[in-house]
Amino acid sequence: MHPSPAPLAIPVLLLLVAGSESEEPAPPASDPAIQGEVLQRHVEVLASDAMEGRLAGSESTRRASAYLAAALEGAGLEPGGWTGSAPSEGGESTWFQQVPLVRQEFDRDPVLTLVDQAGEESSIAYGVEFLLSPAGPDRVRGPYDVVHVRSADDLPEECGPGTALLFHTGRSDQRRLLEEAGHPDGVGLGLVLRAAGSRPGRPTRRPRGGRLRLSDGEAERAPGITLRGPASDAADSWARVTLDPGGGDVPAPDRNVVGIIRGRGTPDRPELADEVVVLSAHFDHIGIGGPEDAEDRIRNGADDDASGVAVLLELAEALAAEPPVRTVVVLLATAEEQGILGTRWFVREFPLTSVVCNLNFEMLGRPDPEVGGAGRLWLTGYERSNLGELISAAGTGVVADPRLEQNFFQRSDNIVFVQEGIVGQTLSTYNMHRDYHQVTDEADTLDYEHMEAAARACLVAVRAVVDGADSPAWKPGEPNLGR
Ligand SMILES: [Zn+2]
Repeated sequence: MHPSPAPLAIPVLLLLVAGSESEEPAPPASDPAIQGEVLQRHVEVLASDAMEGRLAGSESTRRASAYLAAALEGAGLEPGGWTGSAPSEGGESTWFQQVPLVRQEFDRDPVLTLVDQAGEESSIAYGVEFLLSPAGPDRVRGPYDVVHVRSADDLPEECGPGTALLFHTGRSDQRRLLEEAGHPDGVGLGLVLRAAGSRPGRPTRRPRGGRLRLSDGEAERAPGITLRGPASDAADSWARVTLDPGGGDVPAPDRNVVGIIRGRGTPDRPELADEVVVLSAHFDHIGIGGPEDAEDRIRNGADDDASGVAVLLELAEALAAEPPVRTVVVLLATAEEQGILGTRWFVREFPLTSVVCNLNFEMLGRPDPEVGGAGRLWLTGYERSNLGELISAAGTGVVADPRLEQNFFQRSDNIVFVQEGIVGQTLSTYNMHRDYHQVTDEADTLDYEHMEAAARACLVAVRAVVDGADSPAWKPGEPNLGR
């Protein structure tokens, strides 16, 4: 689960880790029965201090993902990732889907230099007068002639890597005009600037590094500059600009773990085998942080979301032992905490037309008294689709998310599928405990009897979805993300 509404400031420290994958603990032997002891074992490995809080793009998620691949292999799934082209086009299948992340790192202050129409050159202050996002690759850009844009009439006929567009518009008009110009998100341009108003920002030296995003690949986005305060007021007079971003993208590749359980269809509806249900949980957390002198700085992420991952591993074993009607794809995703990046990459590469539903598992390690305590689950977006009814009719006792004000529906991996129009919802038992995103979210704080009962209910829920006659479907008017 990631924070809401404002992202938390999370200082991160990367540690270099010796040791190879072969030194990692092996998953417990496969057994289709759902067992609290096995759930506990998975959580203890994933949330151990040795796993260092599983920060995406680091060595620790590499080791966690190796453990997960071994678990899926032991459970008898087929590998669902690939290298190079898709397996259907000759690519080699693996347990991993490579996720091309980049981390922004800054080693000097960004400098924006401008020349006004009178030929005067000056530099403006980062933070107070401009912000930068994304920074793009670490190289000086410009000088560029500034093209001032107030409406579509101002867009140049030709624009490209030598063009700096300065928008005197709101953010949404800027987005629309960039699309009209054939450069969505500033792809293929030199610089994109926007005069955002007279209010100055706070003094600060350079952007906070460490943030991950998906690499733009070939389609490189222009650095985006927001002008504020005096710079925004004077932007009308600008003729030329040069940017030294002070740093930029450093590759921080990571990987999702993907397994498949082929559906068998039914005698009268063999085509149901072609419907895919994606079961997902994220295995990354937020790494190491907090005060330098603290005794414990490892944010273990036992409940968030080693618990969901452990439950999904047990579900995968049970499903593989008795193949479902529909095909199941098990997605153990990285970088949820960084903006759901692993799942965003999954939906970019995976053929979505076959996917009828995503059921996601988040924070199942502690009972939630709000919905009846041990073994009882709640489902986000309950009223939006028929999924809740399908699951409840199977006798799972699953109820609607009791805390709509928290907006959990939009705060986990399922939302990426929803944005693609696919029914996507999350099962959880999160009870708002204070160990969320803290060093105290440790394996020994979870209730494994509750988790076992919750996992059994999850299996009944999943069976209803993957084996039932009715495919998941939205209610009329959904998905509506505007409320
Ligand atoms: Zn989280």
